[in-house]
Amino acid sequence: MRRQNVLGLSRDDLESYFETRGEKRFRATQLMLWLYHKLVVDFNSMTNIAAGLRQIMLDELAIELPEVLTVLESQDGTVKWLMKTQSGDTIETVLIPDGRRQTLCISSQVGCVLDCTFCATGKQGFNGNLSTGEIVGQVLQASLWMKEHRPSERLSNVVFMGMGEPLLNFDATFKAIDVLKDDLGFGLSRRRVTVSTAGVVPGIERMCGLTTVALAVSLHAPNDEIRSELVPLNRRYPIESLIDACRAYLTSQDVKATITFEYTLIENVNDTPSLALELAKLLKDFRCKVNLIPFNPFPGSTYRRPDDSRIYAFHKILMDNGIRAMRRTTRGADIDAACGQLVGRVSDRTRRAARYEDGMNSVYTPAQKIRASTVLN
Ligand code: SAH
Repeated sequence: MRRQNVLGLSRDDLESYFETRGEKRFRATQLMLWLYHKLVVDFNSMTNIAAGLRQIMLDELAIELPEVLTVLESQDGTVKWLMKTQSGDTIETVLIPDGRRQTLCISSQVGCVLDCTFCATGKQGFNGNLSTGEIVGQVLQASLWMKEHRPSERLSNVVFMGMGEPLLNFDATFKAIDVLKDDLGFGLSRRRVTVSTAGVVPGIERMCGLTTVALAVSLHAPNDEIRSELVPLNRRYPIESLIDACRAYLTSQDVKATITFEYTLIENVNDTPSLALELAKLLKDFRCKVNLIPFNPFPGSTYRRPDDSRIYAFHKILMDNGIRAMRRTTRGADIDAACGQLVGRVSDRTRRAARYEDGMNSVYTPAQKIRASTVLN
């Protein structure tokens, strides 16, 4: 019998697991505290669980973490992990420190089916959904690394802005979110978990009443003509239906909730003053903020990043028209960790990696160290 990955089980699942074995439900509490608070990933070290029960757990359950192949650290403190999934594919996870905030950007799928024209992830195709355990596993791996390398820092936010479209992997995503938000899990409050979508309208509709996480929508254009060009999914779910779904989500939340619209600025494609005005009109009276992301180039793409004066001008028009907008600074560009650059490939991840050869330490098994140095050499 294949052992079940505990990282894929919510508190409810674990409680019923122990109950059906004639054990008290609080065993689930003990197990989760070991895993997610003490970051102990070995059943034998869970000393307040009786040896007999530990043996049953060893027989039936496993703590399956995605295997870390490489860890790269940017000059600005951003960290990127390349991790191997159960299926043998590789995914990327990024930690973005910003003042007191430590935001982890996680992947929900291997590749992506949506093929947005400006995103590198789409260019590599799609190899499947991640399981709940693989989503939670990225957060646990990152936490283990932080405990070792940045012990004074704690993860404060998780955003589903890595590879993939979380709303096309709905069940696994929201079960993982249960663990992220659970006090016995990572204990992140609802506003500290953000699901970002390219505009999967039925997914947003399904979120209404089911969850209270923060919603980010990748808008990128104020009209269907340009948006359908950039985000092909827009042909199926045009802007009007997307805005309606966003309104429905806001209605389902408390009055303080807002939606973030992400807008990747691409020179001469969607960055003109008239489009800024059109965007301001579209979002007028909507409880939202706009995140302006300068386009991050990747090999093979013909788009360009606008120069700063164009970005400032776009930003100013939005603000002058009453729209809350922020310019997002590019982080981790030297390790290809910025938005839209996550591709999970291995071959050219060598530039800044050498220092990790020695840095791979006790949280990694010898096999992982060997694999990492193989990749790095
Ligand atoms: N599929 C989800 C989450 C992943 S993308 C979504 O589309 O929202 C996370 C953000 O990075 C999105 O807003 C995406 O549009 C943006 N992005 C993708 N490629 C980019 C690039 N090359 N430069 C800047 N931002 C990019």
